[in-house]
This record gives sequence, structure tokens and C-alpha cells, in this order.
Amino acid sequence: AKEAGRGCYCAFASQMDAEIRRRSTIEAEMRDGLTQGLFYPRYQPIIDLRTGHVTGFELLARWRREDAEIGPDQFIPIAEECGLLNTLMLDLLDRACSETRDWTVPASIAINISPGQLRDDWLSHKILSVLARTGFPPQRLTVEITENALIVDAEKAHHAIESLKNQGVQLALDDFGTGYASIQHLRMLPFDKIKIDRSFVDSLNESTEKLRIVRAILGLAGTLELPVVAEGIETLETAEMLRSLGCAQGQGYLFGRPMDKEEVERWLADGVM
Ligand code: C2E
Ligand code: CA
Ligand code: CA
Ligand code: CA
Repeated sequence: AKEAGRGCYCAFASQMDAEIRRRSTIEAEMRDGLTQGLFYPRYQPIIDLRTGHVTGFELLARWRREDAEIGPDQFIPIAEECGLLNTLMLDLLDRACSETRDWTVPASIAINISPGQLRDDWLSHKILSVLARTGFPPQRLTVEITENALIVDAEKAHHAIESLKNQGVQLALDDFGTGYASIQHLRMLPFDKIKIDRSFVDSLNESTEKLRIVRAILGLAGTLELPVVAEGIETLETAEMLRSLGCAQGQGYLFGRPMDKEEVERWLADGVM
């Protein structure tokens, strides 16, 4: 029994070892990727459901690694653990501000900020200096945060958000309906819009429960006079349903996938919308 136990421990230790090695390899690769510009933004259009016009784009991070495109779910948590996430975000923002300046629509850009990112006391200052340096109007930037951001460190989150809002940056509550204490948070912070999570939008036409939830969210948002963006719209039917329920904006594969700069420029030129 004793030996088995020791064997067990050894296996565990070497597993941990492998995990640590894997992490530090990825961390080193990420640092290289950052200096070589291998992280880049994709932009997904956000559409006014009444007019069909594009109102802005959400910036979604990607990583070109060994000729494959890696999605954020795979590297954002590691970047966060290594303390690289704000550097990465500022790099992408810088690129986005320069890349989108000459687009034919005065597009607004939405960026995602994870809860942990708000712990950096200098975050708002850093964001605002990227905007100043690239000449991007703060009124055209939206910061998307999830409810959990407010639970992690409410005071710091407030401080960072207030200083961004004072300069005209817009604030969106992301993934609404998936977190906790939603209504309380809506009253605590100066949000400009609410995004309904994809899980409620997806197959909305087949679920009366989802329909009820979406209706309730729209009712609440209406009372607070906040416009709503529905994410993950894949069919015309869903878009039409949301529009008739009073949802102002939508985002999803129906309108456009996350695209790189050249794809967006072609998409805009084609007048798809
Ligand atoms: P999110 O903020 O909820 O972003 C929406 C996600 O839904 C994106 O996934 C987008 O590609 C996907 N999506 C949009 N429309 C559709 C649709 O019609 N159908 C389906 N099936 N999916 C759709 P993505 O790009 O993989 O991003 C995943 C998450 O990673 C984002 O979720 C966001 O929380 C996070 N993320 C992305 N970029 C960044 C970043 O620069 N910083 C931080 N902190 N987080 C980021
Ligand atoms: Ca988002
Ligand atoms: Ca979202
Ligand atoms: Ca989501």
C-alpha cells in the first residue's frame, strides 16, 4: 500500500511538472507572439435591427500559432494568469484604432475586459492614452464587462469605469443573464447597453422558456431605458423575432462572422447590409 501510495505521488508530481512545463512554454510563446505581432483583432459587425445598418464592431482576439488560428477561450485565461492580458489588450486596441480609422462607416469598436483586468490601477489611463495617441474618439469605444467583473473587486472596477466614462467611453454589460445579482449591478454602474448572451438567443424560435427570458430582459432594459444587443443571431427568423420584441441591435453569423481588416473592408464595400 505504501509503495502504491508513493507511486501515486510520483505520477502526480510528474504530471504537475509536465503541466508547469507546458504552461511556461506557452507563456514564452505568448511573449514571442506579442513581440512578433502574432496576436491580431477580428471584428464582428453589430447591426441596428430596424435599419439594417452597421453600428459598430466587436473586437475578438485571435492568435496565429503554428499556422493555425487560435481562439480566445484557449489563450485569454493563460494570458491572464501570466499577467499578459492587459499588454495584449492594449496592443490589439492600438491596432484596431489605427486599422478602423479609415473605414467608410464611423464604426464604434467594442473591446472585452475580463474581471481580473480591472485590478490594474492604471488600466483606464492606459486605454485613454492609446486613444489619444491614435486619434480615436473615446465616444466610439465601448468597453464590455461581465457581471462577474463587479463581484471580483467592485471598488476598483468602479474607479476604472468612472474614469473611462468621464472621457466619453461607452459601457456595456456583456453576457447578461449568465451571472449573478444582475439587477443590482445594473443600478450600480452607468451602463449604456446590455448584451444578451448567445445561450438565450440560440434557437429562440424553438423554446418558449428562452422567449420568456428574452422578453423579461427586454422589459427590464426598457424600464432602465437601456438599448439591448442580442448576440449569436444565426437565422433571419431569430433576427425578426428579436426586432419585433423591441431588441435594438444584433450580432451573429447571420450578419457577419468575426473578420480581419481586409474582410471587413470587402464586406463594407459589398454593401451586404
Ligand atoms: P463574447 O464576448 O461573448 O463574444 C462573442 C463570441 O460569440 C465570440 O466568440 C464570437 O465569435 C461568437 N459568436 C458571435 N456570433 C455568433 C453566432 O452567430 N454563432 C456562434 N456559434 N457564435 C457566435 P470568440 O471570438 O471565440 O470569443 C469568445 C470569448 O472570448 C468572448 O465571448 C470574450 O468573452 C472573450 N474574448 C475575446 N476577445 C477578447 C479580448 O480581447 N479580451 C478579453 N478579455 N476577452 C476576449
Ligand atoms: Ca463581448
Ligand atoms: Ca457576449
Ligand atoms: Ca457570450
